[in-house]
Formats: sequence, structure tokens, C-alpha cells
Amino acid sequence: MLIAIDYDETYTRDPGTWNSVILLLKRLGHRVVCVTSRSNTHDNRTALGNILPLDIHVIFCNYNAKAEMTRKAGYHVDIWIDDNPYTIDPDGKYTSEETKQRFNEWKEKDNQ
Ligand SMILES: [Mg+2]
Repeated sequence: MLIAIDYDETYTRDPGTWNSVILLLKRLGHRVVCVTSRSNTHDNRTALGNILPLDIHVIFCNYNAKAEMTRKAGYHVDIWIDDNPYTIDPDGKYTSEETKQRFNEWKEKDNQ
């Protein structure tokens, strides 16, 4: 799996916990990237680079939809960990028809 972890108010709430989680996920063969809404500025690169583990790739989304920006960067995220899910796909444009259908099927089963 490719797992995306948000930075502000997600990773920053408890970096020690997330570092352990990231290490475990990687040991189990998964990939982890950090996806932040922040802009790709020198100050942000420095700030995140000083705190995140060295081998975590960071995708700066410049306040665009995270789903769009990660795809443009060549990543197809399987699981999102984010304190603000709205930032991932605010207009639902990047949610696939398959995903919408799976959700609707699950919802129908759950309502029976
Ligand atoms: Mg956040």
C-alpha cells in the first residue's frame, strides 16, 4: 500500500507516534509519503525537512486538492491519514467511479 500522511495537525500532533507507525509500515513493506497542503517554499521545505524522518518524500500541494497533486507527482495513494479530509478531494473530482460505486454498495448493505 501507499500511505499518505498529512503534516500539520496530523504528524505534528505526535511525531514520535507517527515515526513509530511509519517505521512499522515500511518494515511491513508499505510505502509512506507526506502530503501537505503547504506551498513548496524554501521555508516550508526547511521546516518539514528538519522534523520529518529523512527518507520521507514530501509532496507540497500549494493549497490545491491533495488527490490531484499526488497524482500529478506520480503517486496513487491507497490510504490517506489526514486531520482534514476535505483537503484531499474537496470537489470529489478525483474520487473514481469505482470508489463511489463501492461506497454506495457498502451503504446499501449497511442500510438493510
Ligand atoms: Mg492537517
